[in-house]
Amino acid sequence: AKAAGRNTLRFFDPDMQAAVNARSHLEAELRQGLARAELLVYYQPVVDRHARLIGAEALVRWRHPRRGMIGPGEFIPLAEQTGLIFPLGQYVLQHACAQLQRWGRHPDTAALSISVNVSARQFRQPGFVAQVLQTLKNHGADPRKLKLELTESLLLGDIEDTIARMGQLKNEGVGFALDDFGTGYSSLSYLKRLPLDQVKIDQSFVREVLANPNDAAIVRTILTLAKSLDLQVVAEGVETTGQLSFLRRHGCEAFQGYLFGRAGPVEDIDAFFYPTC
Ligand code: C2E
Ligand code: CA
Ligand code: CA
Ligand code: CA
Repeated sequence: AKAAGRNTLRFFDPDMQAAVNARSHLEAELRQGLARAELLVYYQPVVDRHARLIGAEALVRWRHPRRGMIGPGEFIPLAEQTGLIFPLGQYVLQHACAQLQRWGRHPDTAALSISVNVSARQFRQPGFVAQVLQTLKNHGADPRKLKLELTESLLLGDIEDTIARMGQLKNEGVGFALDDFGTGYSSLSYLKRLPLDQVKIDQSFVREVLANPNDAAIVRTILTLAKSLDLQVVAEGVETTGQLSFLRRHGCEAFQGYLFGRAGPVEDIDAFFYPTC
């Protein structure tokens, strides 16, 4: 490092400088991508024990002009760090509400719910509750069909504030799921205090549920716990009929995974109802 001016140090480590450049480049591109409608909202089916569609999870994608389709794992963390998660999250929420309104108009699809991922930073933003309710209203979407997926990282923050915010949305009918359950910081006493409707078993436990006795035990424990707390359970990452039958045998009632469908454009969900079209 070399002194540059009075109180600043400028680093000339080329690797570090390259990483910083790449990051700020990506940030600028993401900002632009949002403005240019390069972000797409895909939907993955959620089904019941009879493989009937009961809803979908909204999952964002970035159709980059040069790099092609980029998954959220590559830009959500950056969006969280830079605050771009606020406009990005709002964009996904608007998309989901518009879709709920469309489904609400037809008897075949009126019961479907949509789950939207909400990052902790977004959830804690002042005005988040009002923004969600306003977005539902603007699109004429039924709040009872919207589920917000929160992660256990939320439990690290002000728990009273979390409970209060959830309560305000629940009063209007909005549901809550605890995502990636089992991977984070959950304390069972906190879990009981949150006004949740659903927990989602993380796919890392489902993946080897047949091969790994520890994973099988964890999955069974989550299912038992959820039942006693009166929470619906969605198993994520279901790829095989073997995994499905294990989960069903132990009382799981909702499923998501490649066995039923990947995240795709909303037309793929409509094809569940009109397979011959
Ligand atoms: P998640 O919420 O746990 O979403 C499930 C992820 O598992 C999705 O990855 C989905 O495509 C993938 N998946 C579903 N079924 C299977 C399966 O059978 N096998 C395997 N191997 N994978 C499966 P995706 O779309 O890449 O999303 C990754 C993460 O990015 C999400 O994990 C979520 O945490 C985050 N994310 C996505 N969209 C949003 C968003 O709009 N807002 C926020 N805050 N986060 C988002
Ligand atoms: Ca999720
Ligand atoms: Ca998950
Ligand atoms: Ca995950």
